[in-house]
Amino acid sequence: SGKWAKAMAILDDFEDKCATPIGKLRQVADAMTVEMHAGLASEGGSKLKMLISYVDNLPTGDEDGLFYALDLGGTNFRVLRVLLGGKDKHVIKQEFDEVSIPPHLMVGNSAGLFDFIAEALKKFVATEGEGLHPFAGRQRELGFTFSFPVKQSSIASGSLIKWTKGFSIEDAVGEDVVGELTKAMERVGVDLRVAALVNDTIGTLAGGRYNNPDVVAAVILGTGTNAAYVERAQAIPKWHGVLPKSGEMVINMEWGNFRSSHLPLTEYDHELDLESLNPGEQIFEKIISGMYLGDIVRRVLLKMAEEAEFFGDTVPPKLRIPFILRTPDMSAMHQDTSSDLKVVGSKLKDILEIPNTSLKTRKIIVKLCDIVAVRGARLSAAGILGILKKLGRDVTREGDSEKQKSVVALDGGLFEHYTKFSKSMESTLKELLGEEVSEHIVIEQSNDGSGIGAALLAASHSQYL
Ligand code: ADP
Ligand code: MG
Repeated sequence: SGKWAKAMAILDDFEDKCATPIGKLRQVADAMTVEMHAGLASEGGSKLKMLISYVDNLPTGDEDGLFYALDLGGTNFRVLRVLLGGKDKHVIKQEFDEVSIPPHLMVGNSAGLFDFIAEALKKFVATEGEGLHPFAGRQRELGFTFSFPVKQSSIASGSLIKWTKGFSIEDAVGEDVVGELTKAMERVGVDLRVAALVNDTIGTLAGGRYNNPDVVAAVILGTGTNAAYVERAQAIPKWHGVLPKSGEMVINMEWGNFRSSHLPLTEYDHELDLESLNPGEQIFEKIISGMYLGDIVRRVLLKMAEEAEFFGDTVPPKLRIPFILRTPDMSAMHQDTSSDLKVVGSKLKDILEIPNTSLKTRKIIVKLCDIVAVRGARLSAAGILGILKKLGRDVTREGDSEKQKSVVALDGGLFEHYTKFSKSMESTLKELLGEEVSEHIVIEQSNDGSGIGAALLAASHSQYL
């Protein structure tokens, strides 16, 4: 009927505009490399902030002793304790505790929040068991993963630019978050020194490198997305400080904010952006990360409902609610293997209150999920190619006989749980690199970088080294 033709026309048009042929992906990768250069050349030189992390010593595996970590980046925070046994033993023991933050502290004042966290640290330190103590006479050291935008000023200091994710504590904005935490720890009486302030992406890079010396970059694909990599300090024109002894510096790309005229953006993406909390920002993130993929699907379905009566002669009201369709639900529909697509049917019924959908309708929805996920996955692969190009690792060099491997550590719920997404990303990267180079490039899933990675960075930036 005419309705089906109209709905299919909307879907086909969307598919065309989302297309990511290999030539386009190469353009995106090239643009990423160009922007990386620009962001390293000068402050504000690019949409890519290319932030200097002050991490110039990634863990090697030789670290030993007891180290703590605090991971704060959402409504829960975690405290961890890791006992490192040096070269051969690596992580001997790790323990952690998770605490949820009372909502009133997320919108109160700085001392309120940090005192609460310091109290939790104090309690946790008090549970150190047999053999789980710092070396005699040494202060306990902590790696602090703080996943909010920070302007870093040294490895262990940085001022809060703004809160995100539902936090709003005015008197903390502009303050050094390490200073705020340290003052709180003094007030409650727990003696810990913050040795490193990082974000989850840097933590993932550190955790990955600890396990595998060939790790050169880390990518987060979760609620949001970001990447970090190891740059030669001499290749950072905007760095005017003394060159680190290691000759290396970890760069926090903040790649979620990447944008390029080569990105395949549709009317749905423009509307999502306009109605978002940060219009014009984080454009790359808005087409590839877990926070948004489900809502792109919803927007296309809404159009099909409005203009093609895809779900009958009225538009299902729930379909108008932003973010009602979450990416985990989208992936459950996309990966439904039952012959009657019953997962699709039940998600439509339970979430969008659309009962009794036909198999034909469900198949179209699976197709729509595929278009959105594959675009995101292929663009993520192009981003990784951009980093490999910047490092000169996208080609095998003449006479490079020993086959230097380059490993990219991946973390985040989207990559971990959305198999069709991660498979597509990995196969696209192979396609881009070609068979020969692909043998040297490894994507390695690396769990819990934001926790253990910070403890490892406290170890590699310890005051006792
Ligand atoms: P965060 O990014 O908030 O630190 P995670 O790395 O755990 O946390 O990622 C969580 C995100 O991963 C969710 O917001 C969601 O977008 C995505 N995600 C989680 N589970 C799934 C799933 N089964 N399928 C697709 N995406 C998922
Ligand atoms: Mg995370």
